[in-house]
Amino acid sequence: MTATTNRPLRHAVIGAGMAGILAAIKLKQRGEHFVVYEKAAKIGGTWRENRYPGLSCDVPAHAYTYSFEPYPEWQAYYATGSEVQGYFEQVVAKYRLAEDIRFNSEVSALDWDAGTSQWTVTLADGSRDVFDVVIAASGVLHHPRLPDIEGLNSFEGPAFHTARWDDTAPIEGAKVGLIGSGSTGIQIVTAINKKVDKLVHFQRSPQWVMPVPQFQYTEEEREAFRRDPALIDAIRFADEYIGNIKRFTDAITDIDGPQMTMIEDVCRQHFESSIRDPELKEKLRPNYRAACKRLIYSWCYYEEVQHPAVFVETGKVARVEPKGVRMADGTFHELDTLILATGFQADKFIRPAGVTGENGMTLDAFWATRPTAHYAVTLPHFPNLFMLNGPTGPVGNFSLIDIAERQWDYIDQLIDLLRNGEAASVMPTVEAHNAYEERRIAAAKTTIFGSGCTSWYLDATGVPASWPWSYDAFADAMAKPVLSEYAIRTLVAA
Ligand code: NAP
Repeated sequence: MTATTNRPLRHAVIGAGMAGILAAIKLKQRGEHFVVYEKAAKIGGTWRENRYPGLSCDVPAHAYTYSFEPYPEWQAYYATGSEVQGYFEQVVAKYRLAEDIRFNSEVSALDWDAGTSQWTVTLADGSRDVFDVVIAASGVLHHPRLPDIEGLNSFEGPAFHTARWDDTAPIEGAKVGLIGSGSTGIQIVTAINKKVDKLVHFQRSPQWVMPVPQFQYTEEEREAFRRDPALIDAIRFADEYIGNIKRFTDAITDIDGPQMTMIEDVCRQHFESSIRDPELKEKLRPNYRAACKRLIYSWCYYEEVQHPAVFVETGKVARVEPKGVRMADGTFHELDTLILATGFQADKFIRPAGVTGENGMTLDAFWATRPTAHYAVTLPHFPNLFMLNGPTGPVGNFSLIDIAERQWDYIDQLIDLLRNGEAASVMPTVEAHNAYEERRIAAAKTTIFGSGCTSWYLDATGVPASWPWSYDAFADAMAKPVLSEYAIRTLVAA
């Protein structure tokens, strides 16, 4: 076997959301051949699909940007969803990525050919192309989870998932039902409570809420950001954000330590001092530890949920009927519109695309117990397939852009082996991945996410599906792949 140097590579990037755009920029800057496959007609991923009222990004806006594309134009400390979408659109325009993106092109299959060390990418329309590298950037919170409630289809008014917002649905002056009290449901309460005649918020579990400040930037401040990007860095790298991330990851991994105690104290104090009506207070009091579910960051939820138009319904839903929702105790809520803020199937990732790797191994088979990836990025049995924001990456109230950028640095070093001809294919060994996953699972069970609540952070076996160590440990792991954990195969000379 001999190696070939300076091999020109063909890359397929799947998804034109935040992570796919990142990969596209990096590959374009290298002058390499790549195609981005996007199943929709527009870029933006989660920010394209979610347009519900109240949508905002609960990561400070100046920290929710690519490190190389600061954005002086943010209107407020926390940006609205449409502003975030606008940010990605202008980045795509600046790097002229539209010409590299194939819109309305859903990838339906990926098949590895060990003979050529290449992936065949098949689209839903049956067309195919061949690539050396596949970057899966298809997102996590992408496939809506609809509740299994009897009679849901019998509702006469509009009933829709929050990621499929129906602009024609009556909200103003209407009787609106909202099922779900995750980050999405909470944001919707704060945005429509004053518009509706009545909002019935069906809440299966209450939430802990971390109070955060929100304020608008003035035009003078934006002008200063334009002139001096160091002012943006001062926000992005301020202790209020970076320090909080580190304290937060310390807290979730040391659940009886001082940082977690502080988070719990702040949330409890916020709760106790904010809710005036004793009956409502008991409805909103969580019976699990703060940060077990994803913490709600809000500057206004507790105030807005106390608006007289809002009724928090904590009873058991019996069924949906044509004119509303019937509770198990017989109570009936007549509704014009029913909003389903019931979350996402967070275990799908690139699926339902069929992925077949070495020796016929399928992704469905490899992920039969739980979705897993080596350091959240690579997969044994699936050479030259790299995941951005794949399974078991860090989760929490911080910027997934930063996570994706660090993952890209790791991936890029592995792709270098292909570029310089040291390898035709690269993937983690089964042994290295199993050892990693064993350590990860053991640690994940001791994090706050595993402390006794339900959430999308848990896999089908109840184990937190996330990075279970500190943020610094993640940064260290992404800085340099440990090549002894990888099966590196060289090219066979023709
Ligand atoms: P989610 O956190 O999974 O919450 C789903 C909600 O629906 C929960 O309250 C759940 O109750 C409830 N639910 C599900 N099935 C139900 C059923 N059959 N009957 C009654 N209630 C049901 O989903 P999400 O709110 O869409 O948020 C998902 C994630 O998106 C967030 O955690 C966050 O990562 C991201 N997000 C981020 C932002 C942001 O500002 N950056 C904003 C929105 C969303 P239980 O808790 O009892 O299961």
